Amino acid sequence: MTIAVSPQALPALVLNADYRPLSYYPLSLWCWQDAIKAVFLDRVNIVAEYEQAVSSPSFSMKLPSVVCLKSYVKPSRYPAFTRFNVFLRDRFQCQYCGCGEDLTFDHVTPRRCGGETTWDNVVAACSACNLKKGGKMPRAARMFPQQKPYQPTVHDLHENGRLFPPNYLHESWLDYLYWDVELEP
Ligand SMILES: [Zn+2]
Repeated sequence: MTIAVSPQALPALVLNADYRPLSYYPLSLWCWQDAIKAVFLDRVNIVAEYEQAVSSPSFSMKLPSVVCLKSYVKPSRYPAFTRFNVFLRDRFQCQYCGCGEDLTFDHVTPRRCGGETTWDNVVAACSACNLKKGGKMPRAARMFPQQKPYQPTVHDLHENGRLFPPNYLHESWLDYLYWDVELEP
């Protein structure tokens, strides 16, 4: 399970004006080009830097590893309805058998029965369970999700996210994140 961040991209962690990450899911990261641009547009302050620098004949600058917005952006209370966030709400476990393999989605009330693709009706399910349940209602299939699907708050996902940190965290980000993990050497 990863968030698509390549260390080679030297991304900058983007903090809100209160020094908390602008977003956790996905983690707010900008590629170094965007971070530098924002510095020059005077939209951010540099909080921490990488060792690596960009330079031209007349100019040299260390790449920012953490930047902080100058004006506060009100964070949204509810996270986006995305594949990642549904899996995160369900802790990357099939809601029928509890396994974490080969995850996909299941519509609890099947689409052909009017079930919608919403937080309230979509759960993480492994392919095997998904196939087994097919287009049946939970009662007909005798398969009920372990947890009734619901719309999570950012706080809910944050709590689950502590169990599933992204696989790459620059050490300068750790002061601003609350993942309970140690960096790998
Ligand atoms: Zn399953």
